[in-house]
Amino acid sequence: MSETVLRTRDLTKHYGDHAAVHAMSIRLERGRIYGLIGRNGAGKTTLMRLIAGLSIPNSGSIELFGADAERPRTADLARIGTLIESPSLHGGMTARQNMHLHRLLRGVPDPRVEERLLELVGLAGTGRKKVRDFSLGMRQRLGIALALIADPELLILDEPVNGLDPQGVVEVRRLVRSLAEERGMTVLISSHNLPELFQTATDYLIVEGGELRMTLTLEELEAQTQQYLEVAAADPAALLTALEEAWPDAEARVMPGGTVRLPHHADRAEQVLRTLVAADVWPTRLAREGESLESFFLSVIGGERA
Ligand code: ATP
Repeated sequence: MSETVLRTRDLTKHYGDHAAVHAMSIRLERGRIYGLIGRNGAGKTTLMRLIAGLSIPNSGSIELFGADAERPRTADLARIGTLIESPSLHGGMTARQNMHLHRLLRGVPDPRVEERLLELVGLAGTGRKKVRDFSLGMRQRLGIALALIADPELLILDEPVNGLDPQGVVEVRRLVRSLAEERGMTVLISSHNLPELFQTATDYLIVEGGELRMTLTLEELEAQTQQYLEVAAADPAALLTALEEAWPDAEARVMPGGTVRLPHHADRAEQVLRTLVAADVWPTRLAREGESLESFFLSVIGGERA
């Protein structure tokens, strides 16, 4: 059975009259990667700070690693690694010196962890280079290495790909996946951009206005945003026959009016056209359709559809 790493119940945090997090109940399982998605100000950072014990909730509870408590215990909090807001790096020090300092602060006895983690995040070769001369991507990766120093079971990363170039996004994605797959780490990773985090996470938590709007798995998200080819012809029966003969496994869906949707052929318009013409079926419509990630996200949070 899946193991619950974190459960919050009706977690609420007010700033004055404003509920930054309102009655949020979430459950995280071991080894899964949770994408926390919401616009700026949706409450992502506040939720992460509450989970990490950096902020105290007004009401609700947090159950960490099975221990029920209104406030998480210090020993349980030590099993969490965090990169929340900007990493606390010392610009005048090298990557290795930052790791060393952080290891001592966290009371981690084995010095070998410093080099091992720098290798893991691809910063082992940075030698005497000072962190202030690092690129944004290098800083983010060092921040992740610092978050990993005490070998956490739950890793919380607040917008780690924000401002990174596509290559940097891919590197963080690979790293996060390997931590979850190879070490069974649970990761909670936030972003204001669903497409950026798409396929990094195994599960998605969509938040807006301090509230949890939707949770869904990657498979469910893919199904919601699947692209398909939509085909129509004057003779719907001949159309369907021609398509099924050419692609028996196409999972064609016939819509009212005889239009056919082909979920696995979104990129094969030309091939479908050739096949139909060869069968003497002339399409009156042939178009790639489906909801984009961005418009799905906006529909969930109640914004304008793209
Ligand atoms: P961002 O990506 O912009 O950080 P977010 O989703 O992480 O957005 P939060 O930082 O959690 O959102 O903020 C949620 C709401 O709470 C916002 O309206 C913010 O202005 C407010 N807020 C957050 N921290 C504080 C604070 N310390 N004092 C007052 N208001 C705060």
